[in-house]
Amino acid sequence: EAKASGKNQYELYQEEMHQNESRRMLLEMKLRKAIDHNELYLVYQPIVDTKSNEIVSVEALARWKHKELGEISPSEFIQIAEETGLIIPISEWIIQKACEDLIYFQLNGFPKIRMAINVSAVHFNQVGFVKSMNDLFQKMNVSTHQIELELTESMIMPNAVETVNKLVKLKQLGIKLSIDDFGTGYSSLSYLNRFPLDTLKIDQSFIKGVSAYKDDSSIVEAIIMMAQRLHLKVVAEGVESKKQYDLLKKESCDLIQGYYITKPLPANKLLEFLQCWDGEQLN
Ligand code: C2E
Ligand code: MG
Ligand code: MG
Ligand code: MG
Repeated sequence: EAKASGKNQYELYQEEMHQNESRRMLLEMKLRKAIDHNELYLVYQPIVDTKSNEIVSVEALARWKHKELGEISPSEFIQIAEETGLIIPISEWIIQKACEDLIYFQLNGFPKIRMAINVSAVHFNQVGFVKSMNDLFQKMNVSTHQIELELTESMIMPNAVETVNKLVKLKQLGIKLSIDDFGTGYSSLSYLNRFPLDTLKIDQSFIKGVSAYKDDSSIVEAIIMMAQRLHLKVVAEGVESKKQYDLLKKESCDLIQGYYITKPLPANKLLEFLQCWDGEQLN
């Protein structure tokens, strides 16, 4: 191909760099208008308790559909939002929308369900983060006891003192704290009993070790045992098969989330899912 088009490796590399940079600039420009143009929306994925088979919470996942560019994945647009500062208005929009939908689930027969919200590192590191969160929950009239915030290892590792203070304050407000993508971040585990955490979400990559082709559950088992000793709950993310579910239940994993239950759904579809769910689906 390189020869046919008469371009050498370096020229191709430059071309690709240029394409990446123009896509990024295009997305940045479009993202600035995404909130006002109503292009952002949320979908929700249930988290099931393996003992009771009950749906105890739902995780809010952001989506962006642009009329010409189509769906842009959160992994791509959240990063651009973080680099440009757009993450602050976007995060605020996400939190308000998640609160509105939490109230919608509450009013339609699920008064106790909790809402898990992914927190961006850039937002978390802002001065006044805790107060702004508390103000939002008050304004939206939702109980902080029904809110779980998902943080990542990399965001809570630096500036430890400030971080501990923020986490302690969030905890005092009644908010539950989870570590998302657990096992993929920093290697130091010392923060686990220094920070007031509630839940570890085992990263999908470890759950993938248990499949029809292989049976590598050793890391998952080790994380579950460690969490039990530290009095933390464990969620397994990315559970796609009965084989994975059965193994996780056998190993006393507290909670599961994944396509095996359902893909993330828009609020009205999620409500229908909750109304049909009786836990028998897992027996
Ligand atoms: P995450 O928080 O770890 O979310 C889990 C991701 O795994 C989601 O991807 C979800 O759709 C996907 N997933 C769930 N079950 C399965 C399964 O069984 N198999 C597979 N293969 N995937 C599954 P999604 O929605 O594309 O989000 C990707 C990441 O983008 C999230 O990872 C999170 O880090 C970030 N993100 C999404 N929404 C938000 C948001 O509202 N705010 C922030 N700050 N970040 C967000
Ligand atoms: Mg998450
Ligand atoms: Mg995750
Ligand atoms: Mg992730």
